[in-house]
Amino acid sequence: MAGNWKMNKTRDEALQFIYAVADKIPSITELDSVICAPSIVLRDLVKRQGDNLRIGAQNMNENDSGAYTGEISPAMLTSTNVEYVIIGHSERRQYYNETDIKVNEKTIKALEVGLTPIVCVGETLAQRESNDTFNVLKTQVEYALKNISYSDVFKIVIAYEPIWAIGTGKTATSDIADEACGYIRGLVENLYDKDVALKIRILYGGSVNVKNVKELMSKPNIDGGLVGGASLKPDDFITLCNEANEAKK
Ligand code: PEP
Repeated sequence: MAGNWKMNKTRDEALQFIYAVADKIPSITELDSVICAPSIVLRDLVKRQGDNLRIGAQNMNENDSGAYTGEISPAMLTSTNVEYVIIGHSERRQYYNETDIKVNEKTIKALEVGLTPIVCVGETLAQRESNDTFNVLKTQVEYALKNISYSDVFKIVIAYEPIWAIGTGKTATSDIADEACGYIRGLVENLYDKDVALKIRILYGGSVNVKNVKELMSKPNIDGGLVGGASLKPDDFITLCNEANEAKK
């Protein structure tokens, strides 16, 4: 269960959250729980993450260092001891021109420095309505996994996030979400093999909340969630983690 705070929470608010949540989520032996926070609070959160919660970033530059004003390098992230990084979130694709090629470069770089990339893919409403969803997912997934070796691909987490469901309150039905995640699993099988396809973790994201999480997580092709709005409230995030854990037992 991964939370994406986006551009929310001051340092004090982030600290309040971590103190409220860190020791109340399921054991890491049962569930991987991650909060992806703004870069400026990552170190503060890592220091207080406890035994079961993990911390991730929301973006990373694909270069090692240099004249990229305002960017965060891979080594800067690893020096905070975060373990995850979101790559290619639709908001970054939309507002910051993050192309499929950049997503691939960032994914390769994240793996190189030992971070677990959470790679986001998903179609717009217009693409879904014109029956283009599977084509879009195929292009995004094939680009993202380009030149990723058999031994590395297991480490990637893929998040299926239909853009029309992000922050809109419109959740994909569990059947739609499961179908798309299943399609992505099939793409991974074609690129690698069945073993990889079964092991790779595929999340659903898009208006997941405490009411719909159980139904979504009970689907066979959905291994977990990437959650924006509902991950901001400590009690909701704890519930999301517990429900996901129960659904997957
Ligand atoms: C997200 O930020 O990736 C997301 C899915 O947001 P929300 O849960 O608010 O739709």
